[in-house]
Amino acid sequence: MSIPRRRTALIAAMHEELAALLPAIADAHIERRGGREFWLGRLGGHEVVAVRSGIGKVAAAVTATLLLDHYQAARVLFLGVAGGIGAGVQVGDVVVADALLQHDMDASPLFPRHEVPLTGLSRFPVDADFSAAVVRGAETALREHAGTAALLGHGSRVHRGLIVSGDRFVATAAESEALRTALPDALAVEMEGAAVAQVCHAFGAPLAVVRSISDRADDTAHVDFGVFLKQVAGPLGLAIVQQALG
Ligand code: SAH
Repeated sequence: MSIPRRRTALIAAMHEELAALLPAIADAHIERRGGREFWLGRLGGHEVVAVRSGIGKVAAAVTATLLLDHYQAARVLFLGVAGGIGAGVQVGDVVVADALLQHDMDASPLFPRHEVPLTGLSRFPVDADFSAAVVRGAETALREHAGTAALLGHGSRVHRGLIVSGDRFVATAAESEALRTALPDALAVEMEGAAVAQVCHAFGAPLAVVRSISDRADDTAHVDFGVFLKQVAGPLGLAIVQQALG
């Protein structure tokens, strides 16, 4: 008999991104598998399984595969921080993906640049309804998280669009400019989302990816990233997930 799929999987790359969320899981029990800790329990009325993937595309893909194949997750929400590269995407804003692309994938001239060979895809899709719920959740969370705006000195906005991923922390103005030239509609850059999207596509699993902007992927990225990660990412992530799951 097959197990009914009803759990929502919650993934973040780093400890700080999950630190506020894990204690909010009711009746949690932890299972260890593949070098990861899977926290199973309930958040609001929902069954969840939350896990830290580690940084980068391979770590994220392994984690997503375990969630879908072993834990039979019904849907996946990836949350965390990212560098803002789109015009007007500021530190403290939130970006919800409407597609994800691996900016370091390049098997040209055999395949078009950015296309994942033999999938026919460079832009991997997200689930429209789940992502719309995450947008609404993020808007509410930002309204209620007035502390973030105070800390940043400006109001935060929710954007929807392309998120690009690669195995590189983008921390120079020259690098982010090169990304903007190659992918003019990209809003944010991070290191995991598009890998999870490829796995979800393979399994036919609904996905949403939400990133709060920790830095502008420029020469000050390493400083902004650290401050944001310590002070804002955790509580903001929890608020977004709680609002998005309803
Ligand atoms: N030296 C850092 C490494 C973190 S890598 C450390 O102190 O641990 C950056 C992580 O945050 C990744 O998980 C990535 O998804 C996200 N991220 C935030 N800003 C980014 C940027 N400018 N470029 C790439 N990834 C970024």
